[in-house]
Amino acid sequence: MATSQAKDDKSSGSGKSVAIVGGGVSGLTAAYKLKSKGVKVILFESEGYAGGKIRSNSENGFLWDEGANTMTESEKEVGRLIDELNIRDKQQFPLSQHKRYIVRNGKPELIPSDPISLIKSSILSTQSKLKLLMEPFMWRSSDQKSSAKVSDEYSKESVRSFFQRHFGKEVVDYLIDPFVAGTSGGDPDSLYMPYAFPELWDLEKKYGSIIAGAILSKLKAKSSDKGEKNTSVKKRNTRASFSFHGGMQVLIDSLSKEVGGDNLKLNSKVLSLAYNYEAKSPSGTWSIACDTRNPGTKDITRKQSFDAVIMTAPVSSVQEMKFSLGRSPFVLDFLPKVSYLPFSLLVTAFKKESVQRPLEGFGVLVPSIEQKNGLKTLGTLFSSMMFPDRAPSDQYLYTTFIGGSRNRDLAGAPLHVLKEMVTADLKKLLGAEGEPTFIKHIHWKNAFPLYDKDYNLVLEAIGKMEKSLPGFFYAGNNKDGLAVGKAITSGSKVAELVMSYLDNKS
Ligand code: FAD
Repeated sequence: MATSQAKDDKSSGSGKSVAIVGGGVSGLTAAYKLKSKGVKVILFESEGYAGGKIRSNSENGFLWDEGANTMTESEKEVGRLIDELNIRDKQQFPLSQHKRYIVRNGKPELIPSDPISLIKSSILSTQSKLKLLMEPFMWRSSDQKSSAKVSDEYSKESVRSFFQRHFGKEVVDYLIDPFVAGTSGGDPDSLYMPYAFPELWDLEKKYGSIIAGAILSKLKAKSSDKGEKNTSVKKRNTRASFSFHGGMQVLIDSLSKEVGGDNLKLNSKVLSLAYNYEAKSPSGTWSIACDTRNPGTKDITRKQSFDAVIMTAPVSSVQEMKFSLGRSPFVLDFLPKVSYLPFSLLVTAFKKESVQRPLEGFGVLVPSIEQKNGLKTLGTLFSSMMFPDRAPSDQYLYTTFIGGSRNRDLAGAPLHVLKEMVTADLKKLLGAEGEPTFIKHIHWKNAFPLYDKDYNLVLEAIGKMEKSLPGFFYAGNNKDGLAVGKAITSGSKVAELVMSYLDNKS
């Protein structure tokens, strides 16, 4: 049950109602936050389950995640939400989470986690190590004029070009490329810095060096936290990855419970949204039409109007919806097409005695340059090494990713092809012999929006919708970042914006 802080927070939202479209983590967070302020919320979700890209499953003693596997608490809103939902004691931290591997010359190599181990490691050449260690000398004070020049010159800079300027090509090929493929399905050439890594982009603008900038802003954050009373928050490593005992689903189930079954309309695909107003009245209301699979939803949409709408469905879904403003259609021809990256996940298990070189730790990432060594997967999470309770004690459970922008076609390959590919890679990397004892395949056709060089046009078009349609707000990973923490923050922030809109309306 949510803590009293959120529940006691009821304010001027009472009597107002808000429709939320999309029951992923951003929509659920927005619904939960508004409901805790006394607003009546109805959340419409097209699928028969809530959670969107977060979904856990279990069978035969195995437990696995089909979308996001872990999250971090880097954003303050995440910590707040976990506390409000009272699920702090359910957090599950991976064993040996700092042991992460990159493939170099066909073999997994430990990624160094501090400067000393970086110097000792064979993951990078001496030249690249020196370039990394010299990067802080790119530092300049934030008031130096050149910072503005840098940002103008590179205003549409790709992730490759940005990191290559700072650390050199080898770092991009062996660290940045596998990282972006594993976390966003993208590649350093297609992803653009201001949209893919806005925080690092800002650090460069401010400090020149991203290493020096990161250290300085951490120190600043520490000193501003000094006054904070809650020492447990201060001590927590907010960058550590975690899941929950029971998988990421725990977060979704806790949010869904707080939103309340009656307010969560599953199997309710939104087809059209209309803002209705009278010429003489300053404020109007929204009405929504859904497909008719859920009879409860049909009833609600017939009877209920809403003071505001929060859209968290992907832009591609929004483009299929019909909007109207008063009696006129509101045509979305200005909304650009977003490119989505496909992913397949293969969950496999092997008897422990069949794995010759099991590695302790989080997982292994495969740089695209290593495809020359016959590796086709993007990376594998060592699911039961991280969370031993997720597999029977005599087996190892793995989660392997295929596709993204590197191999779009492979993401949609049939199971027997994917299985062959995954078993071949796991054999090379870990010495996993023979057939897996357990296998599950999950295909996400549109796993991630690609934050490419023209993504600013998408963001501008979303801004235009918000400006033109009274009481219409957009949130979620098509706008505010891909990580679960970013989607939660997006949902929290949009709830605040809606509250002030409702305040002004009343
Ligand atoms: P979504 O989860 O996409 O929710 C949007 C919802 O809108 C969906 O439920 C959809 O069904 C619904 N919808 C669409 N159209 C309509 C309509 N017409 N009417 C009603 N509803 C509609 N992030 C991490 O931080 N860590 C990870 O380890 C990680 N791994 C990932 C692995 C995979 C395979 C994927 C796909 C993503 C991963 N992510 C990870 C990213 C993260 O999970 C997502 O970015 C985040 O969960 C998105 O939440 P959201 O609410 O913005 O969108």
